[in-house]
Amino acid sequence: MSRPTGRLALLALIGVQVGMTTATGMADPPPPNTTASARSKPPATAIDKQLFSGRVVLLREALRRRGVKTSSDFDKQVVLESLSGELIPIIPDWRGRAFYQDKRLRNRRVDLVGFRRRGIPYLQVLMVFTVDKRKNKEIRRYFDYWCDICSIPMYEVKMCECCQGPIRMRFQPRALPSYLKKPPAGTRPAPALPTKAATEN
Ligand SMILES: [Zn+2]
Repeated sequence: MSRPTGRLALLALIGVQVGMTTATGMADPPPPNTTASARSKPPATAIDKQLFSGRVVLLREALRRRGVKTSSDFDKQVVLESLSGELIPIIPDWRGRAFYQDKRLRNRRVDLVGFRRRGIPYLQVLMVFTVDKRKNKEIRRYFDYWCDICSIPMYEVKMCECCQGPIRMRFQPRALPSYLKKPPAGTRPAPALPTKAATEN
């Protein structure tokens, strides 16, 4: 009686492991969209990474400045207010969540590498750069959180995943990724057209 049960348990275990492997595999790069509509498109245009420049602010505050009254239901929502004044809500995922948690990241010039999926107004952030003026020069630095004891980066505010100690903000000089087609920010606002690659002839 115990044998078939054991075999069943083993099968169940294998099933769980297969499921786990798949889940882990999907956690690393943004999961490829496998819906029928996405499959017909070339993968290169499925996710068009762009530079989004501006300041991350609370949505209510940005709307208030535009004369739009909202209720407290919007209290937590943060948006990128682009250099051209567009409000782009940020998805609170592994990278974007820090803007919800950490007000030190808000109301300051940032360059965000990210993308928007077709039909979704929200920005998915992949890399965060801060832009500070020093002696009339713009200094762009890559941002993440860092544990000095364990030497590991993290992307949201929490105690260190390893030693449970405090982590700190880290700013490093770093160039923008070369896959961006846009010229380095500054005066040029990111156009934020989700279908830029497709509309460009
Ligand atoms: Zn640590």
